[in-house]
Amino acid sequence: MSVASLAEEAKQKKPAKPIATIQTLRGFKDIVPADQDPWRLVRSTAEHFAEAYGFGEITLPVLEETALFNRSIGKQTDIVEKEMFTFADQSEGSISLRPEATASVVRAYINHGMLNLPQPVKLYYWGPMFRRERPQAGRLRQFNQFGLEVLGDSNPVLDAELINLTYNFFRQLGLSAINIQVNSIGCQDCRKQYRDELVAYYKPKRRLLCEDCKRRLVKNPLRLLDCKQPSCRALRAEAPQIVDWLDEGCKSHFMKVIEYLDGLDVPYVLNPFLVRGLDYYTKTVFEIWHGDQEGGAQSALGGGGRYDGLVEMLGGRATPALGCSIGIERVILVLKEQQVVIKPSYVPQVFIAQIGDQGKIKAMILFEKLRQAGIAAAQNFAKDSLKSQLESANKFGVSHVLILGQKEVLDGTILVRDMENGVQEIIDYNKALPEIRKKLAQRQIAETPLVEKSS
Ligand code: AMP
Repeated sequence: MSVASLAEEAKQKKPAKPIATIQTLRGFKDIVPADQDPWRLVRSTAEHFAEAYGFGEITLPVLEETALFNRSIGKQTDIVEKEMFTFADQSEGSISLRPEATASVVRAYINHGMLNLPQPVKLYYWGPMFRRERPQAGRLRQFNQFGLEVLGDSNPVLDAELINLTYNFFRQLGLSAINIQVNSIGCQDCRKQYRDELVAYYKPKRRLLCEDCKRRLVKNPLRLLDCKQPSCRALRAEAPQIVDWLDEGCKSHFMKVIEYLDGLDVPYVLNPFLVRGLDYYTKTVFEIWHGDQEGGAQSALGGGGRYDGLVEMLGGRATPALGCSIGIERVILVLKEQQVVIKPSYVPQVFIAQIGDQGKIKAMILFEKLRQAGIAAAQNFAKDSLKSQLESANKFGVSHVLILGQKEVLDGTILVRDMENGVQEIIDYNKALPEIRKKLAQRQIAETPLVEKSS
């Protein structure tokens, strides 16, 4: 075949159809290595706080029977009505990806007989939750929560301890503008009376309510109070307040919580309209906002409260309990917004460069030796050129580069290059550890000021 006809045939061949790439689902996202530092910081801080305050970690499944959420969160709530990822499983019936974890914690508390352990039982979790919400900044369909639950004790000091813990957690992370909102929504009895009062107040004003609130008036009147529509907001100002309907027990419980918070100097705002979106809450409820919530619902970093009836609702014996959860993606958004400086988890002190196959082998052995000795090293064994390895070393900002070239391999030595002044020195390969330690210690001494700066 002639060159011309080959060219003609190539021209006639249809270009290969590009293969479409696959994207993540709406509201789901990857967290790539470059974004991991804040995640590590928040997680290690969360674990430290939980362990220090006596919480034990519980890891729970992400899939549960749908009935668990219907019964606990409540059928009339937004979450159960429209936000759950629910599937019919071939053998398990209706199952759902968990929209939150408190219900699972309570299920586990009952299933594992934790009612028989010394009370209260304090548990914490970390992991993904799933809600089919309209995705936007700070609102995802898969998001992560750190949660704390305290089961088996009604003492109001526990409510204050939990609020204090979360407040200090945010302070430890370096976040400013933390705004704690507190309210009591009483027990089932006082809430029933209050609900009637609320309906009596709103009914004559029904036509002024938004469509959602018209439905809420019948299904879940308390939720009228956290509608964001300006017209509903205006009506709320004159609405009856739950604190006026608390019975003696609920009132004195709430007063105690407030007393403890005052004693601890935890700043808070009494918010008579804070009701939370889930049915299982009783008595104390709280939310942690960043700045002013009026700006948008996405400013809530976390929230929680008591759920004294939930263990019983899920088949256990009557057990008072409380908990809270914090939305990690939102915390990270604020960390970024406030430009909180986050140290990377691994900061190499030295870089190991190599030339040739034998150089690579010796470099890999040395790298593992240094790692075991607690010296943080970086490397790029796939690179052959010394120049590009030195460039990498520069990017890492290491103080020394350890070079294993052909000559060094033959001599059983390492060429150590001081990256600050360019001075090079030869050391014995077999004495690498003490020699490198000595150099790093000298560098540290040189960098420590002789006289502490007065502040
Ligand atoms: P909740 O269980 O609804 O009180 O949520 C507790 C916290 O989880 C909220 O304050 C948010 O920080 C976070 N959160 C809730 N829903 C979402 C979501 N769809 N996307 C991201 N974070 C969320």
